[in-house]
Amino acid sequence: CLVGVPRESSAGERRVALVPKIVSALIGKGVDVVVESGAGLGALIPDDLYTAAGAKIGDPWSADVVVKVAPPSTDEISRISAGTRLIGFLNPRNADNRIAELEAAGIEGYAMEAIPRISRAQVMDALSSQANVSGYKAVLLAASESTRFFPMLTTAAGTVKPATVLVLGVGVAGLQALATAKRLGGRATGYDVRPEVADQVRSVGAQWLDLGIDAAGEGGYARELTEDERAKQQRALEEAIKGFDVVITTALVPGRPAPRLVTAAAVEGMKPGSVVVDLAGETGGNCELTEPGQTVVKHGVTICSPLNLPASMPEHGSELYSKNISALIELMLVDGALAPDFSDEVLAGACVTREEKGA
Ligand code: NAD
Repeated sequence: CLVGVPRESSAGERRVALVPKIVSALIGKGVDVVVESGAGLGALIPDDLYTAAGAKIGDPWSADVVVKVAPPSTDEISRISAGTRLIGFLNPRNADNRIAELEAAGIEGYAMEAIPRISRAQVMDALSSQANVSGYKAVLLAASESTRFFPMLTTAAGTVKPATVLVLGVGVAGLQALATAKRLGGRATGYDVRPEVADQVRSVGAQWLDLGIDAAGEGGYARELTEDERAKQQRALEEAIKGFDVVITTALVPGRPAPRLVTAAAVEGMKPGSVVVDLAGETGGNCELTEPGQTVVKHGVTICSPLNLPASMPEHGSELYSKNISALIELMLVDGALAPDFSDEVLAGACVTREEKGA
């Protein structure tokens, strides 16, 4: 089986789907790897580290399986031959994904987002590995935009109180944000509509904000709130947000626009110099005043909406993602050849073009 690693072409994408360490591990399992020249440069990995790991430098598009980070462009799809497998983020829940194009081209697509979130598949869970990067980086961004210290400081020139940080939406990114805010010395509080998260929040030393709403949905995700719940949440959050120096939002509902948690009035209620980092910009944002991809100042509050934060940490982002990708490839291998068994719920879940292919 030959695995191809292209150079990512989408703007700002610095990650690469396989790093040399994982390439040599795959080669040890009987897989051959071909890497496009320059594929690792965004993550500061030169070609010669790939060749030292046993890969060839060449055309990745004619391999048996092409592994990518960002969804493929139409041009990239045109370079992949029918019957080839493609693994990467494919945006299956996004209306403008290119899955129909993959189907039409006879490409068997595996979406990293569609891997079931069961214990056995944790090693392949790229949403989680990359959400950890986002949660961590969101806090660093907030700290650097803030006009205040995060830790409590006791100095000869006076004492500074610790920053108060509220994280709205405590999935993987939110939990990492809480832990990172704590490590920086901030006072962290977490809120989510899934009450089961309260213990996880407390386990990283943060406080749990209880608004009495339970909207746990399917598969460990949240459901959309009813009108009444939304109004109750909005009132309670508007009041709570006033007391925080930093608000980090990560709330998502699968397949739906991001819930609006921070209203314009809530921003207006914050002290000037406070910061909102909105990680939900790609689906419209959790803050009413968010401008996706921009940093804006409204009512004296800095509102940042960084897009694709994992790409801003390409070294560790790629390292973790590579492990997710190689674990999925290994699951598809039988005696060194690709032979995915679709009675396995992980492969059946991840493969997003199979129905059409079998039809
Ligand atoms: P996500 O990115 O889909 O959403 C982020 C958070 O936003 C979620 O915690 C969600 O409950 C919250 N949210 C949605 N609407 C909200 C609202 N109106 N107000 C406040 N918060 C709101 O979540 P995720 O990080 O992908 O995690 C989703 C689930 O998957 C979690 O239960 C997580 O523990 C689970 N998970 C399981 C595995 C595994 O077992 N393999 C791995 C990772 C995550």
